[in-house]
Amino acid sequence: MTTVGILGGGQLARMLALAGAPLGLRFLVMDTEPDACAGQFAPLLVGDYRDDTALAEFASRVDVATFDFENVPAESAQWLSERVPVFPNPRALAVAQDRLEEKTLFRRLGIPVPEFAALSSRQELDAAVAAIGTPCILKTRRLGYDGKGQFRIRSNDDAGPAWEALGAQAATVGLILEGFVAFERELSVVAVRGRDGEFRAWPLTENWHVDGVLSASLAPAKVEPALADIAFAHARKLADALDYVGVFALELFCRDGELLANELAPRVHNSGHWTIEGSETSQFENHLRAVLGLPLGETRMVGHACMLNWIGELPDAAAVLREPGGHWHDYGKAPRAGRKVGHATVRADSGEGLVDVLGRIGAVRGRDAQVAPVVVALRG
Ligand code: AMP
Repeated sequence: MTTVGILGGGQLARMLALAGAPLGLRFLVMDTEPDACAGQFAPLLVGDYRDDTALAEFASRVDVATFDFENVPAESAQWLSERVPVFPNPRALAVAQDRLEEKTLFRRLGIPVPEFAALSSRQELDAAVAAIGTPCILKTRRLGYDGKGQFRIRSNDDAGPAWEALGAQAATVGLILEGFVAFERELSVVAVRGRDGEFRAWPLTENWHVDGVLSASLAPAKVEPALADIAFAHARKLADALDYVGVFALELFCRDGELLANELAPRVHNSGHWTIEGSETSQFENHLRAVLGLPLGETRMVGHACMLNWIGELPDAAAVLREPGGHWHDYGKAPRAGRKVGHATVRADSGEGLVDVLGRIGAVRGRDAQVAPVVVALRG
């Protein structure tokens, strides 16, 4: 009996545990919150990731450890890796936790990135804004996610308010200024690398964000095969450089037909949730296969898929469930503004079929704004 330990007990851990059940796996989830939603399906160890006693108990009860949450302190991941195999490795985690290290690595590997500059004072912010130009975005180097820890600078006058909002964090998590990319579309590569270095990617996904949070994903993205090949090559280079094991997502902006890397998510990713019903092997199953050293599953798609995120509260499920290719995921979390509480995946055999399903869901649920850009992309 193999027990997989997961640091972080949110919906990603929950979906990993669900995917692992048919493989005969046991799980232990560690989270700081006693009501972490993965705890509804797997034993939950409540503890602080910085607490060596709690981590030691976790290590003693698992055969291999992985993450549902990328902000586990790098030192804790390192400490754990001295006692039990940890995938992805702590160095890959540390790089992905820091926007500066991440972008520096992208650049070293020849993966294009938006302009960026590290800074630690108001004077350096002004210099960076002058060098990069407006519009640009001030971000925390670490501990930012879903658009949190970001301030958009539209003109030089915004530098003061941006520093007021985030300046205090220069000394703790660090700051980075990035050029604002007027992208045509956002894409992600969701890929997996095995312990033996085997690499597989799911078809490219197109993503739409609202207020920095993922709203909808479409796969396969309607892009030229040559562009998808460039994206896959970037992802592979990155995974090889980090000796990465497991699933990850590489988020990309597409501007004037060119790809610019935004960030690496060192875990299963929201833009890959469609793989549960939309591909031969889900990202969750393949992540488990990878960390356990098992053969990786096929990543080919089954038709066309669109994932709609439910933020704050769940709508009525019936409009999705009555569709032949409609699938519902309720994470078992209490409703709260801005919180990811579930998603739906709709699948159809053709792009036109998907347009029809999305039209019905958008109309019934009053969610036309959420589905509209996906329909435009499918028709384009
Ligand atoms: P992040 O937390 O960096 O993934 O940012 C969340 C979202 O904010 C991205 O998916 C984009 O929609 C937007 N965003 C972040 N950085 C930039 C940028 N440099 N240029 C344009 N949009 C951005």
